[in-house]
Amino acid sequence: MTILELNGIAKHFSTRGGVVRAVDGVSFRLARGETLALVGESGCGKSTTARLALRLIEPSAGTLHFDGADITKAPAKTLRAMRRRAQIVFQDPYASLNPRHSIAETLEEPLLVHGIGDAASRRARVAELLSLVGLSPFHAERFPHEFSGGQRQRIGIARALAAGPDLVVCDEPVSALDVSIQAQVVNLLKDLQARFGLAYLFIAHDLAVVRHMADRVAVMYLGRIVEQADKRSLFAAPSHPYTRALLAAIPRPDPAGRGRLSPPPGDPPSPINPPAGCPFHPRCGFAEARCATDVPPLRAIAPGHVVACHLAESLPPQPAAVDDRPSENAMRRIALSASRMAAKAM
Ligand code: SF4
Repeated sequence: MTILELNGIAKHFSTRGGVVRAVDGVSFRLARGETLALVGESGCGKSTTARLALRLIEPSAGTLHFDGADITKAPAKTLRAMRRRAQIVFQDPYASLNPRHSIAETLEEPLLVHGIGDAASRRARVAELLSLVGLSPFHAERFPHEFSGGQRQRIGIARALAAGPDLVVCDEPVSALDVSIQAQVVNLLKDLQARFGLAYLFIAHDLAVVRHMADRVAVMYLGRIVEQADKRSLFAAPSHPYTRALLAAIPRPDPAGRGRLSPPPGDPPSPINPPAGCPFHPRCGFAEARCATDVPPLRAIAPGHVVACHLAESLPPQPAAVDDRPSENAMRRIALSASRMAAKAM
C-alpha cells in the first residue's frame, strides 16, 4: 500500500542569473515498510526532493499524496496531522539538535507539539525512545554536546520516532559519521524499520550504504530521475550511463590497487542553463548526435525498471559493480566489532 506518491513534482527558484530548476518533474511511489533510496551527486536535487515530499518547501508544479490524500495544497491543520506521521532525520546530528535543550526536552517536544500523552506518559515515552535507539534512560538529562556524533544521530532518530510515524525521510543520515559508526546507525535504522513497518525515503550519495539499505533505488541527475529500479536489478544491470559511472566509482577493496574505477567525468552542468537534449550528454561516453537534441523520455525497459536513455538496450554489458552479500556481511561485521570495542571502553 502506497504511503507517499509524488507526481511530476518540480521546484524552480528565481535568481538574478535565471531560473534554477532544482527539481524538474520527479515522480515515484513509496510503499509502507519499503525503502526507496534517492541517489546522485551533490546538487542533483535529491535533498530538495526530500523536503518537497514533506512539504517543508512548496512545489512549483506537480502533486503530492500522503496515504492516499492529496496534500499538494493542504492547509496547515492537515499538514500538522500529516507531519505526526511523516518525520525527517537530518544529515548533521549536532546542528539538528538544540544545544540548550536536554535530550528529554528534545524528545518530548514532538509529543507536546502533537498533544500526545500527559507528563508521566511523555517521560515514559522518552525513556522508551532512548532504549529503542540503544541509549539509556539516564541520558535523558544530558545535553547534545555530551554525546558523540553517532549518539547524537541516535537521538535524532529517537526524535523522529517519538510521535509514531509511518514514514521517515532520512537525509544523508550517516554521511557525517565515521565508517564504523555508519554501520551501527544503518543497522539500527533497518532494525527499527522491521520492528515498526516504517517506510524510508533514504537520501544518499554513498552507494555502498544504499546497497545495504534500499529496496528500490532512484538515480537523480540535474533535478530529474534518470533511472529507477529495484536494488538488485539496478546494481546487477545498470542501464543509464550515469548510473554506471556512479557504480563504477564505488571504492572497493582490491589488492591490485584498483580500488575505484572511473567516476562520472567532468562536473554536472548548471541547473540554470541545462544542456539541450539529454542533460547527461556532455559527460556521456556513449553519446551520439540525437543525444544533443532529443530529450530521452523515462521509459520502462523491464517490469519496475525505468530509464531515460536513448541507448539503454544497446549499451555494452557492464560487470556488476560489487557483489551484494559480502557488502552486507561486511557492514554487520563492522557493526559487531564496533559494538565490542564500545562495550570494552565502558
Ligand atoms: Fe548518454 Fe545519449 Fe543515453 Fe544521454 S541518451 S545517457 S547522452 S547515450
